[in-house]
Amino acid sequence: MRQYIFQDPKAKRRAIHFAGIFSIFSIIVLLIFLFIPEISLARPGGGQSYSGGSGSGGGDGIAGLIFWIILQLPPQISVPLIIVIIVFYFLKNKKEKNHNQTITSAPTYSNKFNEFNSVESSLETLKQQDPDFSRLLFWDFVGSVYHKFYSYLGESALKNLKPFVADYILNEAQNNPLNKQTNISEIVIGNIKLVSVYESGDYTGIVVDIKSNYTQTKAGKSTRFILTERWMFNRKKGVLSKAPEQMRDLKCPACGAPADFTDAGECTHCGTFIVAGEMQWFVNQITIIRQEVFKTKGLAHYEQEVGTDYPTVVSPLIDTYIQRFVQNHQLQDWSSYWQNFTDNIAYKYFTEIYKAWSEMQWQKARHLLSDRLYESYNFWIEAYKREHLQNKLDNLSIKKIDMAAIEVDKYYEAFTVRIFASCYDYVINQEGKILGGSRKKARYFSEYWTFMRRNGVEIKESEFSLHNCPNCGAPADKMGQAAVCEYCGAKISNGDFSWILTRIVQDEEYAG
Ligand SMILES: [Zn+2]
Ligand SMILES: [Zn+2]
Repeated sequence: MRQYIFQDPKAKRRAIHFAGIFSIFSIIVLLIFLFIPEISLARPGGGQSYSGGSGSGGGDGIAGLIFWIILQLPPQISVPLIIVIIVFYFLKNKKEKNHNQTITSAPTYSNKFNEFNSVESSLETLKQQDPDFSRLLFWDFVGSVYHKFYSYLGESALKNLKPFVADYILNEAQNNPLNKQTNISEIVIGNIKLVSVYESGDYTGIVVDIKSNYTQTKAGKSTRFILTERWMFNRKKGVLSKAPEQMRDLKCPACGAPADFTDAGECTHCGTFIVAGEMQWFVNQITIIRQEVFKTKGLAHYEQEVGTDYPTVVSPLIDTYIQRFVQNHQLQDWSSYWQNFTDNIAYKYFTEIYKAWSEMQWQKARHLLSDRLYESYNFWIEAYKREHLQNKLDNLSIKKIDMAAIEVDKYYEAFTVRIFASCYDYVINQEGKILGGSRKKARYFSEYWTFMRRNGVEIKESEFSLHNCPNCGAPADKMGQAAVCEYCGAKISNGDFSWILTRIVQDEEYAG
């Protein structure tokens, strides 16, 4: 279930690789990334955000040289010289790749911790200006824009994204002939990670990395891709975040009606002309960092577990938020609450959710999961089923649960815990033959799990039942795909009635 969730384990990390979606734009961005990272670093609005992550190393010296050539030499000499350097660099890079040298190195623990610290402190500054900001709702908003953007690619419906996506991106997405022949479907978003939060001029920016996969159909041929994309969102300073209903789906930021805009960007419901960034976040840059074709043979492949022995990445603000949580709930004793949470929520959810996975009955865990988490893992279960494979996890045992982060905002509270566990983890085919993993040797691993619930929910953790609807108490057996309880009609997966698991991140990847 773990190491191949959103990566083809056999694939080497490659240099930035672009789809043909943003042809010329992507070539320019590629050149900028490859050769002049200093420009990215100094660019207003992008700024420090591009210093980390999965850029392609090795361009720095060349960029300096190119700068020097541009400044010092006349164009009739500098232009051909730069072309020669670029060709040389490509050939050299290609040769290195043939020698199987990986270009990116895994981020170290201290890098991750520094990145986390810097994101958390700039996020606190943002929350002081915008007390309505909720990270969980922002993830939902990003997910909605991402989903709609790719569903509408090459179609006139893209105009409905006018308030949420920069014009130049929409124009390219709509008019590029490649996009007109391409259809993107079955979009699944795995994980959304905040990479940086910054201020630039009149705008606030948030850069996120989005892990996803989707099916691209072109001339009757379908290919499933696994992607990591970096999206930059901007919003005018001083704007307050919208309420949950307006962050979960794309709604007119003026009247709250479902997003339906004219070509000019006028809401067909209330008539307001919405300028991108004035009332809501909008996407100002898209970079595809990684794109790979999904291959089912990866399903039975096991890599060595990495990161289990890394120290736990703990939020720098954890004490502040524990205090806030204790105050909000008027707790006498934090440590007994924490014990209660780990025993009755983290421990039980972990066991139940892995059981549903191992039995390939994902629906059984529907009421315990957010929509995005349910859908992303459901994709993998369906992939196993199509190949007549099953990923079994026997003798699951939890060793330890660490506290990693707590967050309380205007609408939600979230707990991130790191769970250490072991199990016999293997993949079998229909005949029961083991194709990967081991039924004899236990595999140790750890994962970061984030739970969320709406403020004001007060079911006692000790009284919470895993098998009943947290709203009406009926059996949790009729939740459908959308986690709407058939007995009472309540939607359970937004955390309005109980804790919901909203995110799983591998230990080697987690940075807040
Ligand atoms: Zn409107
Ligand atoms: Zn119910």
